[in-house]
Amino acid sequence: MALIVQKYGGTSVGTVDRIQAVAQRVRRTVEAGNTVVVVVSAMGKTTDGLVKLANEISTNPSRREMDMLLSTGEQVSIALLSMALQESGQPAISLTGAQVGIVTEAEHTRARILRIETDRLKRHLNQGEVVVVAGFQGISSTNDLEITTLGRGGSDTSAVALATALKADFCEIYTDVPGILTTDPRLVPDAQLMTEITSDEMLELASLGAKVLHPRAVEIARNFGVPLVVRSSWSDEPGTWVISSTPQPRSLEGLELTRAVDGVEFDTDQAKVSLLRVPDRPGVAARLFGEIASQDLDVDLIIQSIHEGNSNDIAFTVTKDSLNRAEAVASAIIPALCGGMPVSPDGAEVMVEQKIAKVAIAGAGMIGRPGVAAQMFATLAEAGINIQMISTSEVKVSCVIAQDDCDRAIAALCEVFDVEQSALHTQLPEATANHNSDLPHIPTPPPLVRGVALDLKQARLAIRHIPDRPGMAAQVFQLLASHNISVDMIIQSQRCRVLNGVTTRDIAFTVAQMDAEAARAALEAVALDLGFSEIVVDSAIAKVSIVGSGMVHQPGVAARMFEALANQQINIQMIATSEIKISCLVAEEDGVRALQTIHTAFGLSGSHKVQVPA
Ligand code: ASP
Ligand code: MG
Repeated sequence: MALIVQKYGGTSVGTVDRIQAVAQRVRRTVEAGNTVVVVVSAMGKTTDGLVKLANEISTNPSRREMDMLLSTGEQVSIALLSMALQESGQPAISLTGAQVGIVTEAEHTRARILRIETDRLKRHLNQGEVVVVAGFQGISSTNDLEITTLGRGGSDTSAVALATALKADFCEIYTDVPGILTTDPRLVPDAQLMTEITSDEMLELASLGAKVLHPRAVEIARNFGVPLVVRSSWSDEPGTWVISSTPQPRSLEGLELTRAVDGVEFDTDQAKVSLLRVPDRPGVAARLFGEIASQDLDVDLIIQSIHEGNSNDIAFTVTKDSLNRAEAVASAIIPALCGGMPVSPDGAEVMVEQKIAKVAIAGAGMIGRPGVAAQMFATLAEAGINIQMISTSEVKVSCVIAQDDCDRAIAALCEVFDVEQSALHTQLPEATANHNSDLPHIPTPPPLVRGVALDLKQARLAIRHIPDRPGMAAQVFQLLASHNISVDMIIQSQRCRVLNGVTTRDIAFTVAQMDAEAARAALEAVALDLGFSEIVVDSAIAKVSIVGSGMVHQPGVAARMFEALANQQINIQMIATSEIKISCLVAEEDGVRALQTIHTAFGLSGSHKVQVPA
């Protein structure tokens, strides 16, 4: 006997027949002895249709009226499902977000949930009723009691938030796919269904999984340790469990984090090895990191920025005690990497740096919020701290700085982002928070790689020769944020160049293709002020990423990814990593092949054919 929150998406309640099928499933769950709260989306494509109507009247409708309009979709589906339940003999009542007391910020069209009243819900549940709650909507905490919505796709978030507030045993997300797959099955037909994934992995795979599960829902599940399962509405297959380690107990006030960053991490036990001017051709990274892995050296950050002429710089960090061995491996391999070819007039070389530290900000709240990275860079700049390297992932921004600056950096970042400093490293997942022995537990050890994602919708911008002094990255990314442009991957390379007496670096980053021209224009307007010479835009790129919590402290994972690409003669244009993610930019035309070969290289392919709707 459990308290379960079930959420059904738009397709699952798209027709009367389907609503009746949902009612049957809910009834079966109750008959098995459970107490059930149901959250539903609007029927089918109702919300899209409402948006279209609004756009026929106004190109820029008021956000308040949009909420008034869009929240009606869910009001239809809750009433119909409740009727279907009653018709089948199951007592039920439908409630809007306001009637439940899903209290949100007053931010129309993108409100975050502050708290959920549970009195009325519990009263109905105690009377043996199923409560059918409208997803995606809430009510503002202001006197005017405004109707708000959480943002498109937000009913997943409603469901997990309700499960949290009610301390439900778990939350089931019913959808039209059988669960979460190792990659996109339209591109890789032998993609397999995962039986489970950690919430941290799921957040890093946001671009792969966002269509199945809203990242904000995953964030809540992680923060409160709510077990979550994604299942098909059309079958009884077990689906994919999204599991979280037992979190620190936290208050239900401000249930959804209204801030973008929830941890500042640092690591002073790092040293940096840079290979300058190695050839820009397939197989170089594979050889280098293959050799490093065969010496059993564990690499943390890896950064390769845009190439210059026919050569690249690759930098990576290792623990301080393995610096000497890493340097030896790197120096020994340079002749082989260069293959006797003259690379550049001044030749390849290895540089090491002992006194560095890595500081990082982490938080799911930064997804889709421009300006978070910029705020980090600005904070470091104000403290007079120069950033040597930058590497970003979906939910983390990592910077390499001088070790002496580390304490000041942490203090400043904790203050600006209003967080307490957290772990030194990403912790390996522990046992799950659930007490129900029927639910799966994280197997030990977790797989090196859980899933592989491909993003073909990004463009890369490179700023050449920007002066190397505190504040430059801050200015660039603040400017983009002020134009509401979200930056995905940011890479600042190792190479410095002296131009007219000024030390300069390159910074490269990716944005959505549709934002690329706006980003270029914004930056060109400040080129003179910031003192950089050139901006290069390339839309013909693809980003492939591997994600897995098992890769932490496991040598050889990056090497295997690079080797898979090298075997296909695919050149790597840029590399960025975080603890549980490695991303490579390759040419757009190589993207799908890169995805396929990496998926196979990590043994993720299988023979079970997974059916997904077109
Ligand atoms: N109906 C809303 C939408 O289409 C919310 C949801 O389905 O999650 O975005
Ligand atoms: Mg959805």
